[in-house]
Amino acid sequence: MRDGFGRTIDYLRISVTDRCNFRCHYCMPEQQRFLPRRELLDYSEIALIAERFMDHGVRRIRLTGGEPLVRRDIGVLIAHLGKYVTSGRLEELTLTTNGSLLADHAQMLAKANVHRINVSLDSLDSDRFASISRGGRLKEVLAGISAAKAVGIAIRINMVALRDINQMDLLPVAQYCAENDFDLALIETMPLGEGVSGRQNDYIALDEFVSPLREIAKFIPLAHRTSGPARYWQVEPLGLRLGMITPLSQNFCDNCNRLRLTTDGKIFLCLGSNLNVDLRQAIREGGVGEVDRLLETALRLKPERHDFENQLNDSTSRLSRHMNATGG
Ligand code: SAM
Ligand code: SF4
Repeated sequence: MRDGFGRTIDYLRISVTDRCNFRCHYCMPEQQRFLPRRELLDYSEIALIAERFMDHGVRRIRLTGGEPLVRRDIGVLIAHLGKYVTSGRLEELTLTTNGSLLADHAQMLAKANVHRINVSLDSLDSDRFASISRGGRLKEVLAGISAAKAVGIAIRINMVALRDINQMDLLPVAQYCAENDFDLALIETMPLGEGVSGRQNDYIALDEFVSPLREIAKFIPLAHRTSGPARYWQVEPLGLRLGMITPLSQNFCDNCNRLRLTTDGKIFLCLGSNLNVDLRQAIREGGVGEVDRLLETALRLKPERHDFENQLNDSTSRLSRHMNATGG
């Protein structure tokens, strides 16, 4: 698949639920309303849409949310999609999780051909962790990460950079990752969703966020890429591979290769835009042919780039969708 700007689209992120057992304050407000269950795609609908995408050239799928592991019987969907890795139709099936339920699911993931996961971890201080996630228990997340490591799943830790909130956590998190052989990806906080407090105050460009680490370590640029937008450095003498995701300070839309399927069956063409097509209606009323037709439309509509820089400072142009609704 190629979009209107000639970019190859081979990566699909599927949000399997908008629900979550955390309320990270950069992601959603404390009192969040979730979609009624009847509006969610069921597993057979998700699988069918995933197949249509694979037939159109999608080679990698990431499951996300909300928290994907809170959806009931999620193992059924993961096992089903994992079979496409065995058959070679998919190159890779991955997952982004807050890690809190990982201890119970690690074996299932490994069996289903999930060889690589991203786990969010914004602090190694249990009080700060609980405060940022509004109630998350650090101990459970660390136990989940250890369980995934024990079954051989490669792990990248995702840490959202928050001014005056977790900059002091960077070195401990970096050391923890290096010791355990995990990659670390830092993410600039994006202006998504209404009712999310402290937006402008919390934003910090990654260059500034990592400056204390640069004073004590050497950053060597790497050619390494995954399917996502991170650019990587080797940080020595820590022995850490560090990724930086800079949607605001350094735009990466030229190489965008992905589409997002929301929990209620919409294809969002860009995290920073409300443009979407409704595959749930297509699948329930028009069948497979209609889904294919809408996929073609989606490719034509994909915008050239997002505009988070202006949305950060101008609340009138900010998107009301929260990150958990579209899937990070
Ligand atoms: N619940 C899972 C988790 O936290 O990993 C998966 C969904 S979460 C929406 C996916 C990623 O998006 C997480 O790494 C999270 O830190 C990040 N995220 C959420 N809201 C964000 C925001 N406003 N700006 C930047 N990253 C955000
Ligand atoms: Fe939940 Fe992930 Fe959003 Fe945190 S970032 S509230 S864990 S969906």
